[in-house]
Amino acid sequence: MDSVRRALREGEIKKDMYERLECAECGEQLVTKNEPDEVGSIRACPECGQEWRQLP
Ligand SMILES: [Zn+2]
Repeated sequence: MDSVRRALREGEIKKDMYERLECAECGEQLVTKNEPDEVGSIRACPECGQEWRQLP
């Protein structure tokens, strides 16, 4: 799974005018999934289901 930082750099994710993350493909705002066993959190697109890891 790619990190949010990398996805931003590669254009898979973009930020809207309020600095919220959205899926570049779908234009949907990403949701946050809390994964207790993972470091950081998972950001997911509710439309296409792609997920990215957000490091603290
Ligand atoms: Zn999407």
